[in-house]
Amino acid sequence: MLIVDTFTHRLKRGCETMGYPDAPAPPLPDRHGGALQADASRCPVGCAACAEVCPTQAITRPGAGPVALDLGRCLFCTECVRVCPTQAITQTNDHRMAVRRREDLVLAAPGQERLRLAAPLDDRLRRLFGRSLRLRQVSAGGCNACEADTNVLGTIGWDLGRFGIQFVASPRHADGLLITGPVSRNMELALRKTWEAVPAPKIVIAVGACAIAGGPFAGNPETHGGAAAVVPVDLFIPGCPPHPLTILDGLLRLLDRLGPDRAPGAAGEQAAGGEGEAPSPGVAAHSRHV
Ligand code: SF4
Ligand code: SF4
Repeated sequence: MLIVDTFTHRLKRGCETMGYPDAPAPPLPDRHGGALQADASRCPVGCAACAEVCPTQAITRPGAGPVALDLGRCLFCTECVRVCPTQAITQTNDHRMAVRRREDLVLAAPGQERLRLAAPLDDRLRRLFGRSLRLRQVSAGGCNACEADTNVLGTIGWDLGRFGIQFVASPRHADGLLITGPVSRNMELALRKTWEAVPAPKIVIAVGACAIAGGPFAGNPETHGGAAAVVPVDLFIPGCPPHPLTILDGLLRLLDRLGPDRAPGAAGEQAAGGEGEAPSPGVAAHSRHV
């Protein structure tokens, strides 16, 4: 092939990187219904149909108490949506799911029907990280689907590098960790050492149901049931696996790089409860040397 053919080919194809976040986010695939929402006030007395079909005990309804849906444990199989007789649990088609506090993933109580989306890192940390974020990825015993959807962000369509976010080979060159998998016992020491090798201040991002709460491996004695059992976590991104758009939204949300998409009034934002100035439990605990 002549070099002129290469140039012609490139010109014909044009820029293939998506416009998001300056342009609207691309739609989720038909089979991906986005985040769930749950409204306990719609539950008939004594009904626990959703809890009975949930494969990961993400839904609880103790006795006559209200139903609670933990999106951190959810595999998004939608069985609960299917069996609910009153549409108390529904899909939102919203890709945005990242939260800063574990408890913000628990839905259904009045005022908490939808996720309380993540607030950005505080100004001091954003200034320290500057316009770049270097992450070391730690695969801690999952099925590799979360890693695959994270890798997608490096392709030309997503081009994660345009935001200054890159994955690096050494934790000593990283600003934080992105963890997938439930943290198997065999990976505990490696994760701990990798976290210790990242210079402070550092952040930890748990991606996927496994890294948040053990996913389908929850309760298995060979796993720790999520990253937070071993290291402090600053951002939780649900999914099994999370869609790349959900992961990207979480990273940009943390860095306050979403522009109008996260402004009050943006689709879904107000209904989601907006973004409080959530403290960062992980960062606060390990950034005191700054
Ligand atoms: S969609 Fe989530 S909460 Fe509902 S049954 Fe499946 S795993 Fe459980
Ligand atoms: S959360 Fe789901 S997709 Fe991700 S590693 Fe666990 S089982 Fe695999």
